[in-house]
Amino acid sequence: MSLDKATKLDSNDGLFAKRELFSLPEGIIYLNGNSLGPLPINVRHRLDSVLNEQWGKDLIGSWNKHEWIDLPRKVGEKIAPIIGATSGQVLCCDSVSLNLFKLLASCLQLRPNRKRILSQEDNFPTDLYAAQGLQQLLGSSNCQLEVVNSRELVSAVDDEVAVLMLSHVNFRDGAAHDIEYLTRLAHERGALVIWDLAHSAGILPLSLDEWNVDFAVGCGYKYLNGGPGAPSFLYINNRHHDQFVQPLQAWMGHKAPFNFDQEFVPAEGAGQFMTGTPPILSLAALDEALDVFADVDIQLLQEKHMLLSEYFLGMMEEYPELKDLELISPKNVNKRGAQLSFSHPEAYAICRAWAEAGVIADFRSPNLLRVGFSPLVLRFKELEMGVKALVEIMDGELFAEPRFQQRLKVT
Ligand SMILES: *Cc1c(COP(=O)(O)O)cnc(C)c1O
Repeated sequence: MSLDKATKLDSNDGLFAKRELFSLPEGIIYLNGNSLGPLPINVRHRLDSVLNEQWGKDLIGSWNKHEWIDLPRKVGEKIAPIIGATSGQVLCCDSVSLNLFKLLASCLQLRPNRKRILSQEDNFPTDLYAAQGLQQLLGSSNCQLEVVNSRELVSAVDDEVAVLMLSHVNFRDGAAHDIEYLTRLAHERGALVIWDLAHSAGILPLSLDEWNVDFAVGCGYKYLNGGPGAPSFLYINNRHHDQFVQPLQAWMGHKAPFNFDQEFVPAEGAGQFMTGTPPILSLAALDEALDVFADVDIQLLQEKHMLLSEYFLGMMEEYPELKDLELISPKNVNKRGAQLSFSHPEAYAICRAWAEAGVIADFRSPNLLRVGFSPLVLRFKELEMGVKALVEIMDGELFAEPRFQQRLKVT
């Protein structure tokens, strides 16, 4: 009966055809687009051309001829509409970690009488590490990281906070913050905001300009499908342009890199956030991957992943074999990103056993099974099959087999 429901949901899916734009192996159900987005087929052709036609034939002339030098800005401009930003404020470079370091240091410059960075204790660790490193470098009399739980955030934003740094969607439980509300609150108390959009860019409607956000970063390789290690993006609101100089000064962030001046003069606007030579292969892949979004309404993406996760949950409830997998994500679909997380003491082994059955999800230490619902590629019928495979694993305790217990380097 439920298979009929899946078929019906698939036939009503306005994004059904998008799957054809991706290369996914036969027989795999991919519930991990939140960790590494799948490969858009056109990326293959693009990289082939960059390798063979550009690098292979035009060599160094490609920096001008194929406009390699402009890719960080060009890719930033493609990301801008996805996050609700107008032109000139988004740049694609470096990793999220590096960009956070640059932005945090910049925020402290913009708020010279405040030293506190406020974040959430279960934020993605790299975000906290960046702040800890800065604190170590500047000394705790100039920079101090404070972390609180999400319920304490509102009261912790006081007039000593220089910057509120949060992830929009939490990587563990998928809970989503209200960016507009928290940004307004921070501003009322004189603080700046940095939003990490790693788990929301490409699946949730975002209006950074309208919400008056100061700064943001996000991931190129998750829902934007830019490939492993794709560069990150950063957003610098126009009103902060040319108000400070970020500290990782490097030649590509110079106003005129090819003058080879001894003194650093920052490029105008977001451009000063560039550091070294951009990774052209990765940028070209992300540039091409973003074309998938060109005619996609983000609202539709949100509607679909909501339906997917609700459908998944509904099915899980039908099977008593799955009752020990405890949902830790918000039950209210409006309060989460495109993922569901379940806790179970054997989450790691369950995840490995599921993968052997062709269903790729992921595990997050210490005990979470994380299931991502990429709206561009997933079909409802696949969820049906995925849940059935999970029922078999739980019913037969197949996860207990020793080969599923062995931890791999990347989990
Ligand atoms: C994936 C992710 C990152 C990754 O950072 P990189 O430095 O680009 O590897 C950072 N923050 C959050 C919230 C993430 O989910």
